[in-house]
Amino acid sequence: MKCLIPITVVPKASPRCWTWSRPPAKVCWRRSCVQIQRAKPLKAHNTLALKASASAYVSAHSRDDIVAALDWARVEGLPVLPMGEGSNVVLAGDLKALVLCQSEQRIQLVAERGDTVSVQVSAGYNWHALVGECLDRGWYGLENLALIPGQAGAAPIQNIGAYGVEVERFVEAVHGIYIENGEAFSFSTAECHFGYRDSVFKRELRDSVVITAIDLRLSTRPDTHVVYPALQEELDARGIETASPADVYASVVAVRSRRLPDPMTEPNAGSFFKNPVIGGEHADELHKAFPQLPLYELDDGTVKLAAAWLIEQCGWKGRREGDIAMHDDHALVLVNRGTASGAELLAYAGRVVASVQHRFGVALEMEPRIYGN
Ligand SMILES: Cc1cc2nc3c(=O)[nH]c(=O)nc-3n(C[C@H](O)[C@H](O)[C@H](O)COP(=O)(O)OP(=O)(O)OC[C@H]3O[C@@H](n4cnc5c(N)ncnc54)[C@H](O)[C@@H]3O)c2cc1C
Repeated sequence: MKCLIPITVVPKASPRCWTWSRPPAKVCWRRSCVQIQRAKPLKAHNTLALKASASAYVSAHSRDDIVAALDWARVEGLPVLPMGEGSNVVLAGDLKALVLCQSEQRIQLVAERGDTVSVQVSAGYNWHALVGECLDRGWYGLENLALIPGQAGAAPIQNIGAYGVEVERFVEAVHGIYIENGEAFSFSTAECHFGYRDSVFKRELRDSVVITAIDLRLSTRPDTHVVYPALQEELDARGIETASPADVYASVVAVRSRRLPDPMTEPNAGSFFKNPVIGGEHADELHKAFPQLPLYELDDGTVKLAAAWLIEQCGWKGRREGDIAMHDDHALVLVNRGTASGAELLAYAGRVVASVQHRFGVALEMEPRIYGN
């Protein structure tokens, strides 16, 4: 799923001059020339393996590549859709857009302060590879987030989280470019407005920026976080009492590999629905009617419910309709068992939402973003 399409680089003398032909187009600007592919199939670029194509596609290796591609799209009148490894998107149909992927693999130590380091990572870095690389270098903190699919640039967008840790804990800054005018920006953690699977990039800045790099503050002192029962059980099973960062990393990888379906063999987008958060009164009513309902009280008085439990109670776990199925072991994971279209997947998801709403009066929200029509 990596964006590793080779780019033809042609040295340019004049500072701003484009040349392009159909197809593919070669776009040159300043020191960079990028190859724009037309009518690009995206089945291999989304983990649900949904068939769709993009009217144009570019794999950018550098900031100059991105700026050149943005300029080209502006002239062509095409919207730009930045994409990582396609592990959190539903392609509902063909995209009339320039899909922009990044492939730069850069990790750079920016500063050292006491027991912490600040590290800048290019957006194109594979997230799991980054977690392993940081561990090898003695930069700790990311271990609980091992094996989450996708690129580093996408991590702040939905504030990725797993096993009791969210990436916002480590993000110092997010750097990028506004699609509309090519201007650069840098946001501090506070400006990212992180929330549960949420950030400013999912809301106010949705589809309007290309994230090019993130700054992470990591610890050089082992700083493990083991609060999640499944992780603790795995450490216990390994006979580990005081877990090192490497122990946590290995345990997370083991638990995830055992529990989560691999998109390469069972195309999926991970958890398809967010865990809903409801008001305290509503939670009390539900608890009276369904005493088994798992509830997690939050600091602000609201209550988080387990979406998987609600879905399972409605009889969806393992149910297959056409080529779409809710996974046999995971009532949150929708799987494409054949050649389902994005429309079929969304119709199935809509039926799940309707039945949960009907039975529990709770609105489920989809986690992946929908593109195409
Ligand atoms: C098996 C599986 C397990 C998963 N487990 C977890 C989990 O435990 N926790 C979790 O939080 N998530 C999980 N996910 C979801 C997913 O891995 C994350 O959301 C991940 O960050 C998506 O990265 P990506 O590169 O694939 O982004 P994509 O799916 O390509 O893109 C997602 C969104 O981000 C935008 N985007 C991507 N890159 C950029 C960029 N550089 N600049 C601007 N916009 C961009 C896209 O336009 C799109 O809107 C899982 C997914 C799968 C398939």
